[in-house]
Amino acid sequence: MSARRKFICGNWKMNGTASEAASLIAGIVGNWKDAYRNVELAVCPPFTALLEVHALVSGRGVQIALGAQNCYHETKGAFTGEISARMLVEANCTYVILGHSERRTIFEEDDVTINKKVRAALSVSLKPILCVGETLDERELNQTYEVLLRQLKEGLRDVSASDMKHITIAYEPVWAIGTGRTATPEIAQNAHSFIRMEIAKLYDDSIANAIIIQYGGSMKPDNAKELLAQPDIDGGLIGGAALDAKQFLAIADAALN
Ligand code: PEP
Repeated sequence: MSARRKFICGNWKMNGTASEAASLIAGIVGNWKDAYRNVELAVCPPFTALLEVHALVSGRGVQIALGAQNCYHETKGAFTGEISARMLVEANCTYVILGHSERRTIFEEDDVTINKKVRAALSVSLKPILCVGETLDERELNQTYEVLLRQLKEGLRDVSASDMKHITIAYEPVWAIGTGRTATPEIAQNAHSFIRMEIAKLYDDSIANAIIIQYGGSMKPDNAKELLAQPDIDGGLIGGAALDAKQFLAIADAALN
């Protein structure tokens, strides 16, 4: 039995005006129960809703961390439209999702860019959730492990062993994101076990055993339990189902068992 605490994180993507975000977080806070203290729960709203969501979580006796969905690697300056890691810390973020496949494909972020962001986040104690995952083509060409290894190695370049305790890895097979097509528990477990083994090679066994590796890709209340029961699946990065308070908490329930 693993000593790792399960970590369920909602990625709201570009969904939620401040008022929509307020009603979603109110649904989560309103149905929160003490048992959730045994898991790590976080939500990542759009930037513009961070303060609103924080205000509705704080002082309510609930334990729900806040994260952002991206940041820029520079600290300040003439970078129109960007947001720095320190600004996110000021907006009460504990986590930042980096290297999401939508950032990699739609916004053409490569491993070098993502690595700069990972290091920028760590430099201000913002905890990166580093997403890795293969496309359908890469899986069909038997390149899954090669892609995962490259994304891990490059994404974690120059990240020290002591900073690894602040890193979460999210394995997100691109073909499973938002498609309703979930990786089978076996496919996901194999990828997670590979990632853990490679972290052990890059760092050491104790870092590999401690690191949280989330699964992401159409995780829903009806498949969460089986996925989360796999020995190397330590949580979920949830897209669609995180936009519904009941579904999000049902996944948190699955993580409790
Ligand atoms: C995601 O985008 O991180 C994700 C896992 O989305 P979904 O759950 O909708 O597949």
